[in-house]
Amino acid sequence: MAKLTLDRILQSQGFGSRKYCRELIEDGEVVINGEVVDDYRATPDTKDLVLTIFEEEWEYREHVYIAINKPPNIECSRKPSHHPGVLTLLPEQFTWRDVQPVGRLDHDTTGLLLMSDDGAFIHAQSSPKRHVPKVYAATTAEPVTEALIAQLKAGVQLHDEPAPLAATRCRQLGENLLEIVLEQGKYHQVKRMLAAAGNHCSALQRTAIGGLQLEALALEEGEWTYLDAEQMALLV
Ligand code: URA
Repeated sequence: MAKLTLDRILQSQGFGSRKYCRELIEDGEVVINGEVVDDYRATPDTKDLVLTIFEEEWEYREHVYIAINKPPNIECSRKPSHHPGVLTLLPEQFTWRDVQPVGRLDHDTTGLLLMSDDGAFIHAQSSPKRHVPKVYAATTAEPVTEALIAQLKAGVQLHDEPAPLAATRCRQLGENLLEIVLEQGKYHQVKRMLAAAGNHCSALQRTAIGGLQLEALALEEGEWTYLDAEQMALLV
């Protein structure tokens, strides 16, 4: 495969337009292996490439795979209407790279959210055929009962769905705290299922996707991290 020139490499990493990337390079702002590279036609090997730009280090990545601990009052949309968008939690480069949420959480839902600029990954993760289990901790307005759990496991009918939707697993975590595992990703699904079962969801956190646990990532609310190969393998 033809090697990328340095201006194209910078552009692919989200540093801006090709023109701006050329300017950065010609202004001597790009350092590779301790040396300023001011020729935009340079073709450094992208394997293990680390760019230092404005004294910050950036590892070259063909695609990015990110986990965020989403805080409340953040919208997952790229064009948010009432609250800041989730991209405001990430470096500006990720907006240029067209990083997008993998599925959505409601603006008031907190917890594990994946983001990527790899369309195939986003599509595969979001596909209903994949049945990737998503684990939620739902705080309920009314106490959790055995009957509620039984109802959610058996399936509840939501008004715009052709068939009842059931939780894959469901267990009580506290008097008003329920863990619910879903394999679908319907609009407001947890909240609507709880309402259909006669309760009300007053707070919602996603705690895991597949085998990837939010807790294991040790992220404060609003923090993010790149996922490594081991963590990616947990997402099946
Ligand atoms: N179910 C909901 O009701 N909201 C979410 O954000 C995710 C799942």
